[in-house]
Amino acid sequence: MGLIVQKFGGTSVANKERLENVARIITDTYRQGHQVVAVLSAQGKTTDELIAKAMDINPKASKREMDMLLSTGEQISCSLCAMAIQAMGYPAVSLTGWQAGFQTNSSYSNAKIKKVRTERIQAELDRNHSIVIVTGFQGLNKFDDNTTLGRGGSDTSAVALAAALKADLCQIYTDVDGIYTADPRYVEGARKLEEITFDEMLELASLGAQVLHNRSVEMAKKYRVNLEVLSSFSGKPGTKVKEVAKQMEKTQISGVAKDKNVARLALVGVEDKPGIAYQVFSLLGKENINVDIILQSYGRDERQDISFTVKRSDADQALAILSEHQATLGFDHIDVNKEVVKVSIVGAGMLENAGVAAKMFGALYDADINIHMISTSEIKVSVLLDEINGNAAVQAIHDKFFED
Ligand code: ADP
Ligand code: ASP
Ligand code: MG
Repeated sequence: MGLIVQKFGGTSVANKERLENVARIITDTYRQGHQVVAVLSAQGKTTDELIAKAMDINPKASKREMDMLLSTGEQISCSLCAMAIQAMGYPAVSLTGWQAGFQTNSSYSNAKIKKVRTERIQAELDRNHSIVIVTGFQGLNKFDDNTTLGRGGSDTSAVALAAALKADLCQIYTDVDGIYTADPRYVEGARKLEEITFDEMLELASLGAQVLHNRSVEMAKKYRVNLEVLSSFSGKPGTKVKEVAKQMEKTQISGVAKDKNVARLALVGVEDKPGIAYQVFSLLGKENINVDIILQSYGRDERQDISFTVKRSDADQALAILSEHQATLGFDHIDVNKEVVKVSIVGAGMLENAGVAAKMFGALYDADINIHMISTSEIKVSVLLDEINGNAAVQAIHDKFFED
């Protein structure tokens, strides 16, 4: 008997039947004698629909009002789930982010959790022996305003709760039955991993594998949360995310990921003199625009090009900021390409394996796919490609590394 946090994503709670299925998973766990705290996402595509409604009424809606709106989606799924559990004859109470004690900073739409005050949840568990259903993705800032944690943030709510409550286990229930070597929805031959390390999963999540929100992995590593990913539909064993993972077989990489939220900007004809890169990237940094891959061309006739990638959602803002400073930065023009993707391979053993990057580039060459940019670290290699080649590239690379 212990305390288990279970998180259910949007697909898992999309309609009445699925909510009842989730209620069954929760009450089965409760009947085994465990205390259960469940964290739910909004139903199906609710969050996308709410965003569309907001954009329809005001394309420049303030982030504060967006968070006020988006935090309603999770309230619907949670109250309905509590009702489903009560209908089955079990005690349940649903709580919003603020009722559950989630205190965040004030970055509307991308808030960071500062603290979770667990008194209320603990009282519901201990005194009322209730199942507790908590809205994912949201909290309260110091102005008592609702905040949201960024898209996919319910995973992070669940892990934060598991850490704060010192739960024995945090289960992330989703629509695939674990973490695979690539997205099983479109990559043929993708394999389910029995275990994966926090570091590898963090890298995969940050590089586009949305199966876990990257901040949830970071937090699970920091607070040693016992974490697993499994399906709310299949009942099969899932994937455990751990500090050290046993490898079933010797593969050079643990997975391939694709990120579509990327755009490339190129400053063409920049003066080749000290301080330019500093100026460009400070201007972007000041506006909280993160730059990822950077490529500076070989200078010619005292001119050079600097190209770099940002989130696609930041591209217009980055373009506006740099255009405003064209005179001081002294470039000829800016080229923006939003039809690119970043494809990456991740593996802890990459350092000891010479030739891993070459093998990846070889797979792309064989598939006749052109690479625009490359970046490497100890544990990953990323390439920037045309978006239309994204899926074929992931498949080709996956085939090369995981062929039998
Ligand atoms: P939820 O709504 O449950 O949070 P998400 O859509 O956020 O679910 O995440 C699950 C999805 O992640 C899967 O449907 C799958 O398409 C995608 N995915 C991407 N990469 C992977 C991977 N390596 N392993 C498993 N799923 C992956
Ligand atoms: N409902 C939010 C979203 O769609 C949070 C989540 O599902 O994790 O991004
Ligand atoms: Mg998700």
